Amino acid sequence: MVKLARRMDTLPPYLFAALDERRRAVEQRGIEVISLGIGDPDLPSMPIAVETVQREAARVQNHRYPRYDGLPAFREALARHYQRRFGVAVDPQRETLTVIGSKEGLAHLIWAYVEPGDVVLSPDPSYPVYGAHTGLAGGEVYSLPLRAEMGFLPDLSAIPEDVARRAKLLFLNYPNNPTGATCDLAYLRAAVEWCRERDILLVHDAAYVEMTLEGEPAHSVLEVEGAKDVAIEFYSLSKPFNMTGWRLGAVLGNREAVAALGRIKNNTDSGQWHAIQYAGAAALESHPEAFFAQMNAIYRQRRDRLFEGLARVGWEATPPKATFYVWAPVPGGDDQSFAAQLLDAGVVVVPGSGYGKHGAGYVRLCLTVSEEDIDRVVERLAALHPSPFAR
Ligand SMILES: *Cc1c(COP(=O)(O)O)cnc(C)c1O
Repeated sequence: MVKLARRMDTLPPYLFAALDERRRAVEQRGIEVISLGIGDPDLPSMPIAVETVQREAARVQNHRYPRYDGLPAFREALARHYQRRFGVAVDPQRETLTVIGSKEGLAHLIWAYVEPGDVVLSPDPSYPVYGAHTGLAGGEVYSLPLRAEMGFLPDLSAIPEDVARRAKLLFLNYPNNPTGATCDLAYLRAAVEWCRERDILLVHDAAYVEMTLEGEPAHSVLEVEGAKDVAIEFYSLSKPFNMTGWRLGAVLGNREAVAALGRIKNNTDSGQWHAIQYAGAAALESHPEAFFAQMNAIYRQRRDRLFEGLARVGWEATPPKATFYVWAPVPGGDDQSFAAQLLDAGVVVVPGSGYGKHGAGYVRLCLTVSEEDIDRVVERLAALHPSPFAR
């Protein structure tokens, strides 16, 4: 067998691939599984997106290679959305770029910046892609613990200056996966200043920026004055528009960073299909705030339903104010074996340690199932014997 590159050793198996395998094993035993695992909306995409992609699919000019930097109509629609939604002006030409889902963009961005020995500051727990590609590129992840008592916000003042000096990138993600935490504009402002003083690129992963269940709508980092000097933001249509399968997102902000990601992408992929970008443009132009409100109301109702159930079975957790994730402390503290116990009972949750060592002791539950299924999950929790929730 041909020997794999040594860098492959840095790559853990993708969290959800491993979960899928375990789930299939349980299903083979005849147990019907309800998944609160991967964050993948169960509800349909916007009708206008579906109609647009159907129409555009028939146009021959869309059968050719897409533009490398992305369809202008999509990037202009996104710029207009940023103006309306956040009061932020971005130049669609030079300050935006279409990505094939933000996962692709986040991964490739790291290759534009990180060399062996460079430090990447990454929250722990976090979306696994930041660390995976840092490792592949030979960089070093410096973990920023997200702790409940700090509101799941990294304490930037705790980062040693010699580490900060070696750092190229700081990843932030609010509203946050997996904790469901939010941050205010003051926090983002402080992070922009902190990065400016140290010449670090702030990468804000805004996959859930449209998904606030209660309280004030979440912020774009680009709302911070001067943010474009040191920051970029990844916007994703996946979660808020129920378009995970379509693979559409964008990067916005700092021109050099946008151009650098564009150069990597030119040499790697050939862009997203124009029919899909036209659909994204139509969705963004349709004043989607009402659609977001509708979706968020559904998730809020599911959240409340789940928390009524959790209270009944005696599982204490804090309801999230944003995202569709519940980050729940595990009774007994062993998230791996607790998740395995739930899977045997037919419920998939993600063990928190899969998101980093500071995720240990938690599991993540995703609200992407119907209220009926939430009730069935609660029944299964109540039937666990002996009850892990008994005190
Ligand atoms: C889902 C998710 C993404 C990936 O979104 P795509 O645009 O579908 O690639 C990125 N970051 C976080 C934190 C996510 O949860």
